[in-house]
Amino acid sequence: MISLAAEHITVTFKRRGAGRFKALDDVSLAIAPGAAVGLIGESGSGKSTLVRVLMGLQQPDSGRLLLDGSELNMRDARRQMRRQVQLIFQDAAGALNPRQTVFAALSEVLKVHGLQRTGRAALAAQIAELLARVGLPESLVRQYPRELSGGQCQRVCIARALAVQPAVLIADEPVSALDVSVQARILRLLAELRRSTGLSLLLVAHDLAVVKAVCEHAVVLQAGRVVEQGPPARLFTAPQHPYTRRLLAAVPRLPVEAMDR
Ligand code: ADP
Ligand code: MG
Repeated sequence: MISLAAEHITVTFKRRGAGRFKALDDVSLAIAPGAAVGLIGESGSGKSTLVRVLMGLQQPDSGRLLLDGSELNMRDARRQMRRQVQLIFQDAAGALNPRQTVFAALSEVLKVHGLQRTGRAALAAQIAELLARVGLPESLVRQYPRELSGGQCQRVCIARALAVQPAVLIADEPVSALDVSVQARILRLLAELRRSTGLSLLLVAHDLAVVKAVCEHAVVLQAGRVVEQGPPARLFTAPQHPYTRRLLAAVPRLPVEAMDR
Protein backbone atom coordinates (compact mmCIF):
# COMPACT_ATOMS: atom_id res chain seq x y z
CA MET A 1 0.00 0.00 0.00
CA ILE A 2 1.28 3.39 -0.98
CA SER A 3 0.43 6.93 0.02
CA LEU A 4 0.26 9.97 -2.21
CA ALA A 5 0.49 13.52 -0.94
CA ALA A 6 0.54 16.99 -2.43
CA GLU A 7 1.99 19.75 -0.28
CA HIS A 8 1.54 23.50 -0.66
CA ILE A 9 0.53 23.28 -4.31
CA THR A 10 0.01 26.55 -6.16
CA VAL A 11 -0.97 26.62 -9.83
CA THR A 12 -1.55 29.82 -11.80
CA PHE A 13 -3.05 30.12 -15.27
CA LYS A 14 -3.03 33.00 -17.69
CA ARG A 15 -6.45 34.52 -18.01
CA ARG A 16 -7.12 36.20 -21.32
CA GLY A 17 -6.40 39.91 -20.97
CA ALA A 18 -6.48 39.71 -17.17
CA GLY A 19 -3.03 38.51 -16.23
CA ARG A 20 -2.71 35.37 -14.11
CA PHE A 21 -5.03 33.86 -11.58
CA LYS A 22 -4.47 31.16 -9.01
CA ALA A 23 -6.37 27.97 -9.83
CA LEU A 24 -4.80 26.41 -6.72
CA ASP A 25 -3.47 28.42 -3.81
CA ASP A 26 -1.29 26.56 -1.28
CA VAL A 27 -3.33 23.35 -1.37
CA SER A 28 -2.20 20.30 0.59
CA LEU A 29 -3.89 16.92 0.46
CA ALA A 30 -2.71 13.51 1.62
CA ILE A 31 -4.07 10.08 0.78
CA ALA A 32 -2.79 7.61 3.37
CA PRO A 33 -2.08 4.02 2.31
CA GLY A 34 -5.39 2.27 1.69
CA ALA A 35 -7.40 5.37 2.57
CA ALA A 36 -10.31 6.83 0.61
CA VAL A 37 -10.29 10.63 0.50
CA GLY A 38 -13.00 12.72 -1.10
CA LEU A 39 -12.44 16.07 -2.78
CA ILE A 40 -15.48 18.26 -3.22
CA GLY A 41 -16.11 21.75 -4.51
CA GLU A 42 -18.27 23.52 -7.04
CA SER A 43 -17.40 23.60 -10.73
CA GLY A 44 -14.27 25.68 -11.33
CA SER A 45 -12.98 25.33 -7.76
CA GLY A 46 -9.79 23.63 -8.97
CA LYS A 47 -10.55 19.94 -8.40
CA SER A 48 -9.41 18.70 -11.81
CA THR A 49 -6.34 20.92 -11.70
CA LEU A 50 -5.35 19.28 -8.41
CA VAL A 51 -6.03 15.87 -9.98
CA ARG A 52 -3.69 16.71 -12.87
CA VAL A 53 -1.00 17.78 -10.41
CA LEU A 54 -1.45 14.54 -8.42
CA MET A 55 -1.21 12.56 -11.66
CA GLY A 56 2.02 14.33 -12.56
CA LEU A 57 0.35 15.81 -15.63
CA GLN A 58 0.41 19.46 -14.53
CA GLN A 59 3.52 21.06 -13.16
CA PRO A 60 2.61 23.43 -10.31
CA ASP A 61 4.24 26.82 -9.80
CA SER A 62 5.26 25.65 -6.35
CA GLY A 63 4.73 22.79 -3.94
CA ARG A 64 5.78 19.17 -3.90
CA LEU A 65 4.48 15.66 -4.44
CA LEU A 66 5.33 12.69 -2.27
CA LEU A 67 4.72 9.12 -3.38
CA ASP A 68 5.22 6.53 -0.67
CA GLY A 69 7.11 9.18 1.31
CA SER A 70 9.59 10.03 -1.46
CA GLU A 71 9.56 13.43 -3.07
CA LEU A 72 9.03 13.32 -6.82
CA ASN A 73 10.87 15.51 -9.26
CA MET A 74 8.08 17.77 -10.55
CA ARG A 75 9.52 17.93 -14.05
CA ASP A 76 9.36 14.18 -14.34
CA ALA A 77 6.63 13.23 -11.88
CA ARG A 78 4.41 11.26 -14.27
CA ARG A 79 7.26 9.01 -15.36
CA GLN A 80 8.44 8.49 -11.80
CA MET A 81 4.96 7.40 -10.73
CA ARG A 82 4.98 4.85 -13.55
CA ARG A 83 1.79 2.86 -13.26
CA GLN A 84 1.31 3.36 -9.53
CA VAL A 85 -1.19 6.20 -9.87
CA GLN A 86 -4.09 5.74 -12.29
CA LEU A 87 -7.02 7.95 -13.25
CA ILE A 88 -10.62 7.45 -14.25
CA PHE A 89 -12.89 10.34 -15.08
CA GLN A 90 -16.37 11.55 -15.88
CA ASP A 91 -16.42 10.98 -19.63
CA ALA A 92 -15.85 7.23 -19.59
CA ALA A 93 -17.13 6.68 -23.13
CA GLY A 94 -14.86 9.44 -24.41
CA ALA A 95 -11.91 7.86 -22.62
CA LEU A 96 -12.30 4.70 -24.68
CA ASN A 97 -11.20 4.41 -28.30
CA PRO A 98 -14.45 4.03 -30.32
CA ARG A 99 -12.70 1.69 -32.77
CA GLN A 100 -11.44 -0.68 -30.08
CA THR A 101 -13.39 -3.55 -28.60
CA VAL A 102 -13.32 -4.07 -24.84
CA PHE A 103 -10.84 -6.90 -25.43
CA ALA A 104 -8.55 -4.66 -27.49
CA ALA A 105 -8.71 -1.82 -24.95
CA LEU A 106 -7.74 -4.09 -22.07
CA SER A 107 -5.16 -6.17 -23.91
CA GLU A 108 -3.50 -2.99 -25.20
CA VAL A 109 -2.90 -1.58 -21.73
CA LEU A 110 -1.65 -4.95 -20.47
CA LYS A 111 0.79 -5.17 -23.40
CA VAL A 112 2.01 -1.58 -23.04
CA HIS A 113 3.02 -2.39 -19.49
CA GLY A 114 4.30 -5.88 -20.27
CA LEU A 115 1.71 -7.44 -17.98
CA GLN A 116 -0.13 -9.67 -20.45
CA ARG A 117 -0.11 -13.44 -19.96
CA THR A 118 1.43 -15.47 -22.76
CA GLY A 119 -0.86 -17.28 -25.14
CA ARG A 120 -4.32 -16.41 -26.42
CA ALA A 121 -6.26 -18.49 -23.91
CA ALA A 122 -4.28 -17.13 -20.96
CA LEU A 123 -4.78 -13.55 -22.12
CA ALA A 124 -8.52 -14.17 -22.60
CA ALA A 125 -8.72 -15.55 -19.07
CA GLN A 126 -6.78 -12.54 -17.72
CA ILE A 127 -9.23 -10.17 -19.40
CA ALA A 128 -12.22 -12.17 -18.18
CA GLU A 129 -10.84 -11.87 -14.63
CA LEU A 130 -10.44 -8.12 -15.00
CA LEU A 131 -14.02 -7.79 -16.24
CA ALA A 132 -15.28 -9.96 -13.39
CA ARG A 133 -13.58 -7.67 -10.88
CA VAL A 134 -15.69 -4.77 -12.13
CA GLY A 135 -18.86 -6.85 -12.35
CA LEU A 136 -18.95 -7.26 -16.15
CA PRO A 137 -19.57 -10.53 -18.01
CA GLU A 138 -16.89 -11.96 -20.28
CA SER A 139 -19.38 -11.80 -23.17
CA LEU A 140 -18.71 -8.06 -23.36
CA VAL A 141 -15.20 -8.49 -24.79
CA ARG A 142 -16.30 -8.19 -28.41
CA GLN A 143 -18.36 -5.04 -27.86
CA TYR A 144 -17.43 -1.51 -28.87
CA PRO A 145 -17.92 1.47 -26.54
CA ARG A 146 -21.01 2.65 -28.47
CA GLU A 147 -22.66 -0.69 -27.69
CA LEU A 148 -22.17 -0.20 -23.94
CA SER A 149 -24.18 1.79 -21.41
CA GLY A 150 -22.53 4.68 -19.54
CA GLY A 151 -22.17 2.53 -16.44
CA GLN A 152 -20.58 -0.29 -18.44
CA CYS A 153 -18.13 2.16 -20.07
CA GLN A 154 -17.10 3.41 -16.64
CA ARG A 155 -16.62 -0.20 -15.45
CA VAL A 156 -14.39 -0.88 -18.47
CA CYS A 157 -12.37 2.25 -17.61
CA ILE A 158 -12.03 1.05 -14.02
CA ALA A 159 -10.93 -2.39 -15.28
CA ARG A 160 -8.37 -0.73 -17.53
CA ALA A 161 -7.01 1.28 -14.60
CA LEU A 162 -6.88 -1.85 -12.41
CA ALA A 163 -5.16 -3.82 -15.17
CA VAL A 164 -1.84 -2.14 -14.39
CA GLN A 165 -2.16 -2.84 -10.64
CA PRO A 166 -2.02 0.74 -9.38
CA ALA A 167 -1.51 1.60 -5.72
CA VAL A 168 -3.56 4.79 -5.99
CA LEU A 169 -6.71 5.32 -8.02
CA ILE A 170 -7.93 8.84 -8.69
CA ALA A 171 -11.53 9.14 -9.83
CA ASP A 172 -12.46 12.62 -11.14
CA GLU A 173 -16.26 12.89 -10.95
CA PRO A 174 -16.64 9.26 -12.07
CA VAL A 175 -20.41 9.14 -11.61
CA SER A 176 -21.43 12.69 -12.55
CA ALA A 177 -22.46 11.70 -16.09
CA LEU A 178 -24.36 8.56 -15.04
CA ASP A 179 -28.00 7.93 -14.26
CA VAL A 180 -28.70 8.21 -10.57
CA SER A 181 -29.58 4.51 -10.34
CA VAL A 182 -26.20 3.57 -11.80
CA GLN A 183 -24.22 6.00 -9.64
CA ALA A 184 -24.67 4.06 -6.41
CA ARG A 185 -23.59 0.82 -8.08
CA ILE A 186 -20.36 2.33 -9.42
CA LEU A 187 -19.64 3.88 -6.02
CA ARG A 188 -20.24 0.54 -4.33
CA LEU A 189 -17.80 -1.05 -6.79
CA LEU A 190 -15.13 1.54 -5.97
CA ALA A 191 -15.65 0.98 -2.24
CA GLU A 192 -15.41 -2.81 -2.71
CA LEU A 193 -12.27 -2.60 -4.84
CA ARG A 194 -10.65 -0.37 -2.32
CA ARG A 195 -11.42 -2.90 0.45
CA SER A 196 -10.42 -5.98 -1.56
CA THR A 197 -7.21 -4.58 -3.09
CA GLY A 198 -5.96 -2.10 -0.49
CA LEU A 199 -6.02 0.62 -3.16
CA SER A 200 -5.73 4.19 -1.99
CA LEU A 201 -8.54 6.22 -3.50
CA LEU A 202 -9.13 9.89 -4.24
CA LEU A 203 -12.75 10.45 -5.20
CA VAL A 204 -13.59 13.83 -6.69
CA ALA A 205 -17.20 14.96 -6.70
CA HIS A 206 -19.29 18.07 -6.49
CA ASP A 207 -21.67 16.25 -4.19
CA LEU A 208 -20.76 15.42 -0.60
CA ALA A 209 -23.24 12.50 -0.61
CA VAL A 210 -21.08 10.76 -3.23
CA VAL A 211 -17.99 11.25 -1.09
CA LYS A 212 -19.77 10.16 2.07
CA ALA A 213 -20.75 6.87 0.46
CA VAL A 214 -17.12 5.85 -0.06
CA CYS A 215 -14.66 8.03 1.86
CA GLU A 216 -13.70 8.53 5.50
CA HIS A 217 -12.18 11.94 4.90
CA ALA A 218 -13.38 14.84 2.77
CA VAL A 219 -11.56 17.96 1.64
CA VAL A 220 -13.60 20.98 0.54
CA LEU A 221 -12.10 23.20 -2.16
CA GLN A 222 -13.34 26.70 -2.89
CA ALA A 223 -11.73 28.90 -5.54
CA GLY A 224 -8.45 27.02 -5.29
CA ARG A 225 -8.23 26.91 -1.51
CA VAL A 226 -9.03 24.23 1.04
CA VAL A 227 -11.69 25.80 3.25
CA GLU A 228 -12.66 22.80 5.36
CA GLN A 229 -11.91 19.12 5.84
CA GLY A 230 -12.99 16.25 8.03
CA PRO A 231 -15.16 13.14 8.12
CA PRO A 232 -17.98 13.48 5.55
CA ALA A 233 -20.62 12.69 8.17
CA ARG A 234 -19.40 15.63 10.25
CA LEU A 235 -19.40 17.95 7.25
CA PHE A 236 -23.01 16.92 6.62
CA THR A 237 -24.25 17.42 10.13
CA ALA A 238 -22.01 20.29 11.27
CA PRO A 239 -20.41 22.12 8.34
CA GLN A 240 -18.13 24.81 9.76
CA HIS A 241 -17.60 26.89 6.65
CA PRO A 242 -20.42 28.85 4.94
CA TYR A 243 -19.23 27.53 1.55
CA THR A 244 -19.70 23.92 2.72
CA ARG A 245 -23.18 24.82 3.95
CA ARG A 246 -23.97 26.35 0.55
CA LEU A 247 -22.66 23.26 -1.25
CA LEU A 248 -24.91 21.07 0.87
CA ALA A 249 -27.93 23.26 0.21
CA ALA A 250 -27.32 23.53 -3.55
CA VAL A 251 -26.95 19.88 -4.47
CA PRO A 252 -29.91 17.52 -4.78
CA ARG A 253 -29.48 14.45 -2.59
CA LEU A 254 -28.59 11.18 -4.21
CA PRO A 255 -30.06 7.91 -3.06
CA VAL A 256 -26.63 6.79 -1.93
CA GLU A 257 -26.82 7.83 1.70
CA ALA A 258 -28.19 4.45 2.69
CA MET A 259 -25.26 2.71 1.05
CA ASP A 260 -23.16 1.08 3.74
CA ARG A 261 -19.45 1.72 3.56
P1 ADP B 1 -13.09 21.91 -11.36
O1 ADP B 1 -12.51 20.60 -11.78
O2 ADP B 1 -13.25 22.05 -9.87
O3 ADP B 1 -14.37 22.23 -12.06
P2 ADP B 1 -10.79 23.03 -12.74
O4 ADP B 1 -9.60 22.56 -11.99
O5 ADP B 1 -11.12 22.33 -13.99
O6 ADP B 1 -12.04 23.05 -11.76
O7 ADP B 1 -10.60 24.57 -13.06
C1 ADP B 1 -10.27 25.53 -12.08
C2 ADP B 1 -10.09 26.87 -12.73
O8 ADP B 1 -8.93 26.86 -13.56
C3 ADP B 1 -11.25 27.25 -13.66
O9 ADP B 1 -11.42 28.65 -13.57
C4 ADP B 1 -10.74 26.86 -15.02
O10 ADP B 1 -11.33 27.66 -16.01
C5 ADP B 1 -9.25 27.16 -14.90
N1 ADP B 1 -8.40 26.32 -15.74
C6 ADP B 1 -8.29 24.96 -15.67
N2 ADP B 1 -7.38 24.52 -16.56
C7 ADP B 1 -6.91 25.61 -17.22
C8 ADP B 1 -5.94 25.81 -18.26
N3 ADP B 1 -5.26 24.80 -18.77
N4 ADP B 1 -5.72 27.08 -18.66
C9 ADP B 1 -6.37 28.12 -18.12
N5 ADP B 1 -7.28 28.02 -17.15
C10 ADP B 1 -7.56 26.78 -16.69
MG1 MG C 1 -13.30 19.01 -12.92
